[in-house]
Amino acid sequence: MQAVSGKKIAVTGGAGFLGSHLCEMLLAQGNEVICVDNFYTGTKQNIAHLLDYTGFEVVRHDVINPYNLEVDELYNLACAASPNHYQRYPVQTTRTCVQGAINALDLGQRLGIKVFQASTSEVYGNPNIHPQPEEYVGSVNPIGPRACYDEGKRCAETLFFDYWRESRGRLSIKVARIFNTYGPRMPINDGRAVSNFIVQALQGHDITIYGDGSQTRSFCFYTDTVQAFLRLMNTPAEITGPINIGNPVEITLLELADRIVALTGSASKIVHMPLPTDDPVKRKPDISKARALLNWEPVVGLEEGLKATVAHFDNMLSTDSVFARQIAT
Ligand code: NAD
Ligand code: UDP
Repeated sequence: MQAVSGKKIAVTGGAGFLGSHLCEMLLAQGNEVICVDNFYTGTKQNIAHLLDYTGFEVVRHDVINPYNLEVDELYNLACAASPNHYQRYPVQTTRTCVQGAINALDLGQRLGIKVFQASTSEVYGNPNIHPQPEEYVGSVNPIGPRACYDEGKRCAETLFFDYWRESRGRLSIKVARIFNTYGPRMPINDGRAVSNFIVQALQGHDITIYGDGSQTRSFCFYTDTVQAFLRLMNTPAEITGPINIGNPVEITLLELADRIVALTGSASKIVHMPLPTDDPVKRKPDISKARALLNWEPVVGLEEGLKATVAHFDNMLSTDSVFARQIAT
């Protein structure tokens, strides 16, 4: 239990990977937190330990529908982040991004508060500029299978900036472009590279590399990412973003797989599978703005972050045998 002394803060998507860690950090700072989630990819398990806090509340709600809360700040994180999950119900994904943004902004405008938007490096699409600075306007296929998320998040950014300009100072916006983040509580079955490779390695299954594995990503540990959210939210009103939040250390997917195999001491072999449509070839954030404006840069290296993530998944697989069997088949 913790005494409540701070602000009242809403976190949409608060039962998800990043949202649950954010709720936890906000509560630890003495704030009251309202988690708003429809539990599409989030779980009650992610937030079960927070229910002991007197200042923690959970509202089951789909953000495509309007909602009304009395809060001092709003973090809008609701939206599945993994390609498998966001492509399963693509129209719902676009609605979550677009109507979710409108509903967050309507509430923020009524209350005259700060609204944080979890945007994404996917707004850059398959980038022609490397690394990606915030000025780069992106290269997105508007009709491909990733578009529901990429274009949804791009439209959400448009809405954030249009509401902000129209509000003439009543509303404050904080738009973070988040690059690949990993760590404990990422959905274990979400089909992302980090979760797939770790589960495959721990279970001695083949490691599935899509394409030749030369595509790159830059992986940031969740503690660094969430720390950046808090710093961005606490900047003065003139800092709106968009601002890149990510780890600029870039690696190929083949290197990532090798690192995970070595870390787990697994006998898994690498197999190649077809590259998904519109899969970005490279991805690396230019974080000069985050360094200058937030005095922030990642501090957790890949080795340390992967070790913590492997330990978490290992524990999940060994304590939840039903789940382990589901994953194995
Ligand atoms: P996640 O899937 O673990 O969490 C998303 C949460 O949103 C889940 O709890 C889910 O149930 C909830 N949700 C989804 N649709 C909803 C709806 N319509 N109404 C209410 N709740 C809804 O994903 P995450 O990795 O925690 O991502 C959080 C946010 O950060 C997302 O907006 C995502 O786009 C963004 N982001 C994440 C990454 C990353 O690498 N994890 C990268 C870029 C951007
Ligand atoms: N990927 C892979 N094998 C997998 C899962 C993903 O090779 O089992 C690749 C995927 O094609 C992409 C990269 O890993 O090139 C990162 O994919 P992820 O879904 O983790 O993130 P995103 O594509 O959203 O950056």
